[in-house]
Amino acid sequence: MRRMRRSAYARLPETPAVLASWATTSTKEDNVELKPKPPSMNGPAAWFTGEVWIDPIVRGDPPSKLAVSAVRFTPGARTAWHSHSTGQTLYVTDGAGLVQPRGGDIVSIRAGDIVHAPAGEWHWHGADDDHFMTHLSITDGDPTWGDHVTDDEYRGERR
Ligand code: MN
Repeated sequence: MRRMRRSAYARLPETPAVLASWATTSTKEDNVELKPKPPSMNGPAAWFTGEVWIDPIVRGDPPSKLAVSAVRFTPGARTAWHSHSTGQTLYVTDGAGLVQPRGGDIVSIRAGDIVHAPAGEWHWHGADDDHFMTHLSITDGDPTWGDHVTDDEYRGERR
């Protein structure tokens, strides 16, 4: 594990905000930690349609189930229908995508949008037909996976 010494930041102006962030991120050794980067993972075909890549960012230490990932969808790619035991927040960082709660409309999402799925609500999310879409996924529970989203469902009426 590579560690970045505080001296790496020596050129930053020592404003109160910068000093406060040092106080909360410093370890006992007084270092900021640069975590190893796990390999990007292909989204499993059981849970996704099309090509999807997942980069894990945060995994909580048990009993925490916190999971933060960057998820990259190629055009037309999407999750299967699923729900999250304690809900999910998506933060769209790039591109153009779609999200649909079961029984609801398909909604277009864009970079900067924040989407929240309540606990237990069935839904899917993915890229639109002709754009990539990347979102951060933030969960603190377990997903339940269902059927794949059919092409007919994916091409349903959108707003
Ligand atoms: Mn979800």
